Amino acid sequence: MGKEDKMKVYRFLKDFPATQTNYCERYSSDAARWNLYPNLNYSALYYAIVNLLDVFPLITSQPQAIGEAILDTIKALMIFLERDSLEQLPLLLASQLGVFPRELDKQIVHLLADCVFPFSINDETHVKLSVPGVLMLVLQQTHDPSLHTWIVESAMNCSEGVYKDLLQVIAKGTCESRVAAANLLFHYWPFPNPQILHRKTIQYRVHAWRTMQCQSTGCSDKSSSVKRCYDPVICADVADTSPPIFLCRKCAEQVTGERKVVTQHIAQPMPASNATCQRQECQSQSRLAVTICCSHECTRGHNHVPMRLCMDCSGLVHEEGSIKHLQHQGSGVVWSTDDQWPTVESIVKLLRETTMFEGSEGEGKKPKWLRQLDGGTSMGKEIDKMADERRMLSRFGVWLMAGLCPPNDSADPRAIGYIMQNVFEWFATTALLPNDSMGASLEQLKTDFVSDWINIGMRVHNSVFIASLCGECEESDERPVIDRIKEGLGRLLALMPYDVISLETWSRVMPRWLEAIVNDCTEDNQPELKVLLCKIFEPDLCPLPFETVEVYGFMTDRIGGDDYDEMFNALQWLHVVHHSYDFPFPLLK
Ligand SMILES: [Zn+2]
Ligand SMILES: [Zn+2]
Ligand SMILES: [Zn+2]
Ligand SMILES: [Zn+2]
Ligand SMILES: [Zn+2]
Repeated sequence: MGKEDKMKVYRFLKDFPATQTNYCERYSSDAARWNLYPNLNYSALYYAIVNLLDVFPLITSQPQAIGEAILDTIKALMIFLERDSLEQLPLLLASQLGVFPRELDKQIVHLLADCVFPFSINDETHVKLSVPGVLMLVLQQTHDPSLHTWIVESAMNCSEGVYKDLLQVIAKGTCESRVAAANLLFHYWPFPNPQILHRKTIQYRVHAWRTMQCQSTGCSDKSSSVKRCYDPVICADVADTSPPIFLCRKCAEQVTGERKVVTQHIAQPMPASNATCQRQECQSQSRLAVTICCSHECTRGHNHVPMRLCMDCSGLVHEEGSIKHLQHQGSGVVWSTDDQWPTVESIVKLLRETTMFEGSEGEGKKPKWLRQLDGGTSMGKEIDKMADERRMLSRFGVWLMAGLCPPNDSADPRAIGYIMQNVFEWFATTALLPNDSMGASLEQLKTDFVSDWINIGMRVHNSVFIASLCGECEESDERPVIDRIKEGLGRLLALMPYDVISLETWSRVMPRWLEAIVNDCTEDNQPELKVLLCKIFEPDLCPLPFETVEVYGFMTDRIGGDDYDEMFNALQWLHVVHHSYDFPFPLLK
């Protein structure tokens, strides 16, 4: 791929009719478009590049220069591509992150954010569907957080539903992308709760991006660009590349003054720390921003920065009847909306991050200083630089759950069951955390948010609650029964100190587990259960908030009753408990 090939592709653009630059700005299936182009075999060239990308990792000499040449060629080719190829382009490009040398990360994101997205996302293509995948790859593969805000905001500026796209990344993406996506979701769509709003950053920090440096070859200050130009002749003359080019204020003025061409404003970066309404006349009581408007009508008076608006101002500015603005809003309570399952799945994935993390090689249980002493590596693997962030990811899940999925009457019982099962699991894992600052803040979440959620869920969706505690919501799996019993008892034990297990719940749930032990466990299993049962029943250890007599009530009632089967069951249960520790019989009255 020499410089000459690349030249060919855009040099002939000089013959492009000056009145038709709209074909360079935006894809359309308009037949007239194809008549404008000189007769070159673009798809052959495109597939040659696709093939070259396949073998790119084998290239050993000058990978950066070759990578750069490929990106330039793709930029020039883009406007000639047929719809099918164009629709593959965003993911094809994003997949080169981590394959191309790191130095090119920024150029890849620039090409996607400033050229490919604006050109190809519209009603005539399905490129919109690649947005979640592109976001995931960028968030996962690039370690510079300003590239993250860049790609997200560029998607906002040309596409609807970016909130949903980020939610997809959290629900279905990789761990690395989930860290960034969760932080960004809460950055762009702040929650009205002060504890969430003023949260401490852990490791991930949201960074504002910067527009490209001026691309004019003759520019002396190379300051940030504010305008773009699609005129192919100007692009070739001024910046030696294909459209579009990005220019600073001075160079843009020069081009419009001397060459009489049209330039357009480009959207500027949003500030990294701001969650309030940006309308100057805002008089609202609650100035928390609920929407981001990217329409020119709103950004024009705001230096072309997308505008955060509070509820009141958005209502005023976007009165019905006026032209629909490109706005991005969060979901609100999700029940019976399209966002329901993606949100529920996001919550579960976020909660499981903490669970999985603690499970992995006991790494999480090592104190931080020891992990650092390991020299940043563990068994030859590079240690996760976002380890603390990952461990704390579940806080976002808890907030989404408390804010958007209240367990009220309108809630979907299947969703509540799925969340409950995972919340209980989360209680059990976090109970084992060291009592460091992170352990303490997760603990705080339980009292601040989760206990309330469970208490309401327990009242409104009682049968789901009981079923979850009895392990009936779990997907059936191949694991030995003893493991499921141990997990179930562990969950129960972890919940006991939080005032969510009432006497009634206790008296319904515990018999189920004791029955399972009697029916499905062998004498060999008993020692394994012993510790758990002891912690649950031994009066000095038992964290239940009621009298010991009541703890045993479900057994003594049966023994004193007149149903022979029940009496027999209760005696067997008592026998199991008796094996876990030697309780004094007077306890039973
Ligand atoms: Zn300039
Ligand atoms: Zn306002
Ligand atoms: Zn607007
Ligand atoms: Zn015995
Ligand atoms: Zn025995």
